[in-house]
Parts: sequence; structure tokens; C-alpha cells
Amino acid sequence: MPYLTAPDELAALLPGEPTYRVRQLREWLYRSPVLTAAAMTNLPAAVRARLEPLWPFTVEVEQEGDAGRTVKWLLRAADGASYEAVLMAYPRRTTLCLSSQAGCAMGCAFCATGQFGFERHLQAGEMAAQAAYAAARLRARPLPGGPPRLGNVVFMGMGEPLANYDNLREALRRLVEEMGLSARAITVSTVGVVPGILRLAEEPWPVTLALSLHAADDDTRAELVPLNRRYPIDDVLAAARRFAAAKGRRVTLEWVLIDGINDTPEQARGLAGIAAELRAHANVIPLNPTPLSRYQAPSPERVQAFIEQARRAGANVTLRDTRGRGIDAACGQLRSRAASPPG
Ligand code: SAH
Ligand code: SF4
Repeated sequence: MPYLTAPDELAALLPGEPTYRVRQLREWLYRSPVLTAAAMTNLPAAVRARLEPLWPFTVEVEQEGDAGRTVKWLLRAADGASYEAVLMAYPRRTTLCLSSQAGCAMGCAFCATGQFGFERHLQAGEMAAQAAYAAARLRARPLPGGPPRLGNVVFMGMGEPLANYDNLREALRRLVEEMGLSARAITVSTVGVVPGILRLAEEPWPVTLALSLHAADDDTRAELVPLNRRYPIDDVLAAARRFAAAKGRRVTLEWVLIDGINDTPEQARGLAGIAAELRAHANVIPLNPTPLSRYQAPSPERVQAFIEQARRAGANVTLRDTRGRGIDAACGQLRSRAASPPG
């Protein structure tokens, strides 16, 4: 499976072939990905045959929503691990939301992936292959209403990317240096793994950091995000400031809005204060309800009121659209429907 081989070691897959063949293969895998090895037209048929299976996963379920502008894949690795990726077309960009782990160990109370538990880390090649697959698929069959080229990648699928740091790092390297994506068009979303944020600040790529904040005080946040007991808000914000300073990039704050929990005027003012201090932009996402939790999304009026309160308090806030609601495109939801939790 060529995506599970480091790009520098691809020669091992083509014994006896000249180096220009290895270079051609590398181009096909990353610069101009195609859906099948058979489509790698300048490679001899015998070489192409040896590259199958091309992808380190099978597409177990493909669902379309939003009139074809959203496509979600449930992917399964040879060892049975499953994870998801969602491709979304917008007028000016096509964005892939990919997974960094099968499952997640962080256990956030409102998250379907967290409720499901941790299966395993994804390898760098499994992350890069999600992006290559999306690029290949877009080229073969563009989504209506969006450019046929993969523009943005967000690590907002299953898993906590900074808990799988070395694989994440190599995946980012492949996205930028092998595939040619702009680092600025890549967003790494974290629930607040402080050592990971600090390491990411030292990497050469100016990716965007999204911090899943969800609450402005430690008690409320710890109820939603167990990791807050290990890394409280002040520590996470200090790391985010370091990242912003090192990269010269504004951090994004994510806030999943939950009825009666973090949608009060006090929380709105707290968010505004943190956003102003960090000079961050905040995305408010109404909760996508999950089967295993009692949390609900606030009414549309309450969502609007929260946003207006935060804005009046000086925050730069947008209401994020919840793409793919109809196809369970929120984090972890397709898998939780396709299978029951392990053990
Ligand atoms: N583990 C990382 C990245 C994956 S989760 C993180 O937590 O940031 C990506 C985003 O989806 C996070 O902002 C998370 O809070 C959000 N999310 C998780 N469950 C959700 C739900 N049920 N409804 C809406 N957003 C959710
Ligand atoms: Fe993991 Fe992110 Fe879900 Fe929390 S919100 S359980 S960190 S995937």
C-alpha cells in the first residue's frame, strides 16, 4: 500500500525500476492523485498491478448531502479500524475534514467520537491518503457548487491530532511538501493538548490552529472536556499565544453551543474577553446532538442571542454552518450508526 510507505522509501515498492519511475509514482500519489493505480498512465502495467491496493482503506459507506455539495466517507483499514472524512464544496473553496485517529480517547461529553472511545492512532500515510483520495475524487468527479481542486484541509474529523503528534507532523509535511497544499489552508483543531500546541509552534509550517474552547471558566469546561483537568484554560491560552506569536497566525476558537450549559450571557462575555485578548476569531457551532448524550442545541433564537451578546462584548464571532446534518456528518456520527461501540 504505497501511501503507507514514506515518500523517500517508495523505491522499495518498485524493485529493479529506474529512479524516474519512482519519481513518477511519487507524483501520482501526491501531486496529481488518481483513484486507481490503473490510471497512472505512464507506468508500465506490471508496475501498476503491483501497487494495488492503492488506498490504505476501503470506502465502506459514501453518503451525499446538501444536494451533492457534501460527501462523507466511512473508511475501513485492513485491520478493521474505521474512521471518517467529509468533503464539502463552497463557492470559493472545497474543504476536506479528515480524521487523525480511529476514535478518540479524550471523552468530550458532547462528541460522538469521544463517546465511542479510542481505537488506534492513524498513520501519517492514512491521513495523507484521505487528502489524496479527496483530491483524486474531486478531479474525477467535482462536487457541484465548488472548485474541482482540494483547497482546504481541516483536522476536525475523528480524533485528537495533537495526541498523535509524530504521525500528524509527517502528515502535515506530506500535505505541504508532497501535495503542494498551502500551509495556511490547513487547520489543526485541538481540544487543548498543551505540549502538542507548543511543538506545533516550532514546526516550519504556518498552519492555522483551532482551539476547541467551548467554555470560558474551568468548571464548565471540565464538565465538557475532561482534558481541562490536566490542562486548564489559562495554560491552554498561554500555549495558543505562543503559537500565534511564533507563527504570526491568528488562532481560531471553536465553541460548540449547548443549551443551558455554555450559552449564557456570562459565557458570551467570557468568550468575548478571551477572543479579544488573543485577537482570535471565534466560530460558534450549534451542537449536533449525539445518541449517547442528553445535551441539546439551543433554539435558533438563543443561538442568535449568544452571538449578539458576544459581539456586543467585542468578539469577532461567526455562526458556523453545520454542513451535512442530514447525513450524520458531525464528528463520529456515521460510524456510531454503522457499528456499535467495542467491548
Ligand atoms: N479533537 C479535536 C478535533 C476533532 S473534533 C478537537 O476537539 O478540536 C472537531 C470539532 O468538532 C471540535 O471543535 C469539536 O468540538 C466539534 N464537535 C464535536 N462533537 C460535536 C457535536 N456533537 N456537535 C458539534 N460539534 C462537535
Ligand atoms: Fe476527541 Fe475532539 Fe471529540 Fe473531544 S471533541 S472527544 S477531543 S474528537
